[in-house]
Amino acid sequence: MSQIDKNPHPPISNNVQEVSDLLQEKNTIETNIFKSEAKIQVLKEQIKKINKKLFHKCNHKWKYDNGCAFDDHTKYFCEICEICLIFL
Ligand SMILES: [Zn+2]
Repeated sequence: MSQIDKNPHPPISNNVQEVSDLLQEKNTIETNIFKSEAKIQVLKEQIKKINKKLFHKCNHKWKYDNGCAFDDHTKYFCEICEICLIFL
């Protein structure tokens, strides 16, 4: 077995293109993450607007939220529109 065969890594000069490709792929993914996060923010704002409309339009049926036992605040949720009310 020659010296070259024992080396599992190719010479550095051969990696230049691969490194460039990996950086390109990474940049594309990071751009996609940025765009996705911006889209999530827009969707969350849409949900906030819908919740505001629901709060005024729903004929609420409030129920105590038993899942908040370790919290000082009293919480209720509407069985119809699922909006939460928090009393501080
Ligand atoms: Zn409601």
